[in-house]
Amino acid sequence: MSRGAVDLHTHTTASDGTLPPRELVLAAARHHVSVLAVTDHDSTEGLAEAMAEAPTHRITIVPGLEINCDVEGAEVHILGYFVDQNAPWFQAFLREQRAERVARVHRIAERLAELGMPIEPAEVFAMCNEGSPGRPHVAQVMVQRGYVKSVREAFDKYLKTGGAANVPRRRLTPVEAVQVIRRAHGVPVFAHPGLADRDAMIPELVEAGLMGIETYYPEHSATQTREYLGLCERHGLVPTGGSDFHGPQSGRTNMVGSQPVPWSSWEALQQRRERA
Ligand code: AMP
Ligand code: FE
Ligand code: FE
Ligand code: ZN
Repeated sequence: MSRGAVDLHTHTTASDGTLPPRELVLAAARHHVSVLAVTDHDSTEGLAEAMAEAPTHRITIVPGLEINCDVEGAEVHILGYFVDQNAPWFQAFLREQRAERVARVHRIAERLAELGMPIEPAEVFAMCNEGSPGRPHVAQVMVQRGYVKSVREAFDKYLKTGGAANVPRRRLTPVEAVQVIRRAHGVPVFAHPGLADRDAMIPELVEAGLMGIETYYPEHSATQTREYLGLCERHGLVPTGGSDFHGPQSGRTNMVGSQPVPWSSWEALQQRRERA
């Protein structure tokens, strides 16, 4: 079997992606992906459908998820691969995470009303089929209501970290996210650290059980990629990578499979799985 592309970071309609899992796999096949991690926010609901579609296309699905944590003045996202997704305690944990997302949408709606841009939380929940709601769904409702022209404008003007309508979530710290993934026998990875700007947290995350850093990422500069490779060597971590594909009309443009990720990253990730 020929080696196609490796993409260890993608989203579906189970969270804030715009393609259902099956269509994500079809897009991956068209772009010659042979290893595809599905990493929805606080949800593993998209995995079964992706896994059912993948064999026809000779694609290996890596089961994953992404946990977004708010820290002082920034966001730290932790990816988890190969978790025991069927463990009842783990699914209960994800349901709590999504319940906090729902509560947060209500708080964001209150802020938007104060800013003269009322929305109905129900519109947001309809947008994600009562799944894992997030700011991208709020942004889509703002576009529909004509408050902004695009998802990007909604983020830039109101929803970004520190934005007037952004409300931080209550719950997990990044250390706790790493620990919960290890407890589920998964491999925790610091997602796109170049966007988080919290490299100072890496030692405590390693202490908590971190096993990788997402080094190859569309928005990382060549210098950042080199720095994170160096940090991986220093701490004995796997340098992973992916496109963070969210589908068409998501306000993001990186195509699935478009971020080069070395095959050795995938091999190293599988080796960590045995230790996790
Ligand atoms: P949340 O899950 O509510 O914290 O929202 C975070 C998600 O918003 C990220 O996973 C991205 O998919 C998306 N996002 C963040 N910044 C932007 C942006 N500037 N434009 C479009 N989507 C964004
Ligand atoms: Fe997202
Ligand atoms: Fe992320
Ligand atoms: Zn992501």
